[in-house]
Amino acid sequence: MIDTNHTPRHESQFDRRAFIAAAGALGLSLSAGSALALTRSGQPSRTRNQPEAPAPADAAPPMPGYFGWATLADRALFIPGDGGNSMLLLSAKGDSCILIDAKMPYIASTLRREVEARGTRIESLVNTHHHLDHIGGNHAFTADIRTVAHAKAKARIPEQLERLQQAIKNGVRTISSSDSPEKETVLKEVEALAAAADAMTIDKWMPTQAFSGQIGAANLGTMPVDLHQVGPGHTDNDLIVHAPQLDVIHMGDLVFNNLHPFIDRDGGGSVKEWIKSLKYAKRLCKARTVVVPGHGDVTDSKGLDAMIAYFDTSMDFIQKQMRQKKTREEIVAMTVPGTEERGFPHLKERAMGAMYDELKG
Ligand SMILES: [Zn+2]
Repeated sequence: MIDTNHTPRHESQFDRRAFIAAAGALGLSLSAGSALALTRSGQPSRTRNQPEAPAPADAAPPMPGYFGWATLADRALFIPGDGGNSMLLLSAKGDSCILIDAKMPYIASTLRREVEARGTRIESLVNTHHHLDHIGGNHAFTADIRTVAHAKAKARIPEQLERLQQAIKNGVRTISSSDSPEKETVLKEVEALAAAADAMTIDKWMPTQAFSGQIGAANLGTMPVDLHQVGPGHTDNDLIVHAPQLDVIHMGDLVFNNLHPFIDRDGGGSVKEWIKSLKYAKRLCKARTVVVPGHGDVTDSKGLDAMIAYFDTSMDFIQKQMRQKKTREEIVAMTVPGTEERGFPHLKERAMGAMYDELKG
């Protein structure tokens, strides 16, 4: 999806539900209204509501499987839903691959099975940051697959153990209410995980390799893939994953495409610094570079521009209200003009509050 001005109609229901589960597990308070609206909308979930890949000329038909797999570029595949967006980068021969982000913990076995069903050997898994909707699936990989995250992410994973276990158990309900044609197979996998969840220890989720530089190839496999860490943003450990040969970039949650963002100040995030990461990523982009956001539709460099504009406009707006002596309570209840159509409305007040707090210092 190149158009960054679209409404969030393509945002899959399932992804929203999984995100809400993730948000709940992260301790975000979501209004009952938003959860109710999701339950009542009755739209068939996700997946058959296919994500739109950004290469219209050779757009491939949807690929079989539980996830709404889509082609991003030659040798780059998009895996939406059940947590953050994942991406699969295939080697020139297609016999090996690098997986970016591991989704929610309950779907881990399914994710690994579908990746391997493509006849490709997973050389590395990269976590774009420590949130459980991106590292949750690590437990299906770390025993035998190189799993790379920023050093600061490793420090933040252990405190999530209970939430990770709970998210696995909650997955049974999530899959039971899904309308996926693959539901029976996936439910068996999720039930098996849920039965073992309480006995799982945090080492199952720990990356096997820490990345602490600013730019590096990190020895991920046979294909050149660069990791970039610019500084604090969504958290203090966001990695930008760039495959220059394939001309694709995974931004992790540095991009919530046309959605209200989660700004994790407790996790070391900062809006002022976040903008620097977005501007940095723009310099990696060429005319047709595909940009994968952590949440929302696939985009290109315009998605980076839109995210920068969202923060600039919002910070200016909030600062103006502060000069007019508006209270925090009054300000977080406001909607920044131009952001009315953004998805994840349940995150709006929290985002406004985080920006207010940062400006207040
Ligand atoms: Zn996140």
